[in-house]
Amino acid sequence: MLHIAIIGSGPAGYYTAEAAQKQWGDNVRVDIFDMLPVPYGLIRFGVAPDHQSIKGVVRRYEQTALSENVRFVGNVKVGQDVSVDELLTLYDAVVLATGAPRDRQLGIPGDHLGNVHGSAAFVGWYNGHPEFTALDPDLSGHTAVVIGMGNVALDVARILAKTGDEFAGSDIVKHALDRLMASNIRRIIILGRRGPHQIMMTPKELGELGHLSRATPWVDPRDLPDQADDALLEPGIRKSVTQLRSFAAISESRRAELPLEIEFDFFASPRALLGTGKVEALEVERTRIEAGRAIGTGESYLIQASLIVSCIGYQTTPIAGVPFDERAGRFANDEGRILTGLYCVGWARRGPSGTIGTNRPDGFGVVEMIAEDITSASSKQGGRGFDALAGARKLNVVTFQDWKKIEVAEASRARDGAPREKFVDVAEMIHARD
Ligand code: NAP
Repeated sequence: MLHIAIIGSGPAGYYTAEAAQKQWGDNVRVDIFDMLPVPYGLIRFGVAPDHQSIKGVVRRYEQTALSENVRFVGNVKVGQDVSVDELLTLYDAVVLATGAPRDRQLGIPGDHLGNVHGSAAFVGWYNGHPEFTALDPDLSGHTAVVIGMGNVALDVARILAKTGDEFAGSDIVKHALDRLMASNIRRIIILGRRGPHQIMMTPKELGELGHLSRATPWVDPRDLPDQADDALLEPGIRKSVTQLRSFAAISESRRAELPLEIEFDFFASPRALLGTGKVEALEVERTRIEAGRAIGTGESYLIQASLIVSCIGYQTTPIAGVPFDERAGRFANDEGRILTGLYCVGWARRGPSGTIGTNRPDGFGVVEMIAEDITSASSKQGGRGFDALAGARKLNVVTFQDWKKIEVAEASRARDGAPREKFVDVAEMIHARD
């Protein structure tokens, strides 16, 4: 029997469990740990609440979760309730699938000012992550700046722009919906330090901005490169640039009809945030592109704004005793191997890029590596040993069956048409189980 502990119950964690089952069948036991009492990580707390079809992938994870040889071990903080070293003595392999839940810092003067939020915090707030429930963003001003030109920036801009009706069928949490419905924001600027040809946005997600009921996207046609140059782009980006061109063609009269505008500001690198206590303005330097890199031109300008959300990427949270690559913001690893017996997958391994499906080959890859590394029969105790330790430490472990009770309770208190109203703090989640 092989005993595997997977730390993190998001996509990377469940794909690794699925791969382990395929590899070893009945000869493996898998425990999937999560620091929260609820599973699915990024799917619950990262994927936008109005993208329910993407969340449908959890049905696949649930099949894995419900099999005999896989357990969910929720409400256990690895590194705090139990150390990685302890898990290594109990399990043949420990796989860190903890994602990248921390914001990369802007690292410019003023980034500590009030109402400057990273996307992990802001997205966590509208998705009901217990750590960010109390974020309390101030949406009373006129202008918001969203920094970054990736899909997270699109999520944030879209959520800030939607009407109540447009959240029908979503699982946005009540505290966020209430605040958004009282928002005064009328101008959302998506700021990119490079140009239209360097955006990280995918065409479908970008296209959604063109179908909002009270907002129009706007691209200044002067920012667009020669159309002939689009031919050199990779097809996905080319489609996205075609979307940008369609936004540049939106008429003045159409823009004037709707109360909210989403403006793309290209070649604009954030230099400083200004304000007393709370942010009041962003200083930006114009850039030009040289060999694909943004180079400051020395020309700068101010954008008056009372909300800043930086969507510039994420980092993995270090765990005591696990080698960490500070520069890359993830565990130090060689294609997933940290050391024999200790591995990482998904964003914790390769950083925050790719789609949910990218994690599947990752999971299968790490399982092959474990199979190469562990060739002899195991004498480890696995889950039985962990249960003894959890009992001795009086850990309040949440099982998958417990989660199913929480899930039913969340569904039963949902708004009309919504799939669930999430519990947004750990005590409420545990209470729903009890
Ligand atoms: P991303 O795609 O890497 O985009 C990050 C953006 O931040 C880039 O435009 C980058 O510009 C910019 N940036 C980085 N550092 C900056 C700085 N110091 N100042 C100004 N701009 C800076 O990251 P993401 O948007 O966080 O998305 C993470 C992953 O999740 C991606 O793979 C994304 O596709 C995926 N995702 C998918 C969906 C979906 O499919 N619906 C939704 C959300 C997220 P440079 O290019 O110039 O560095």
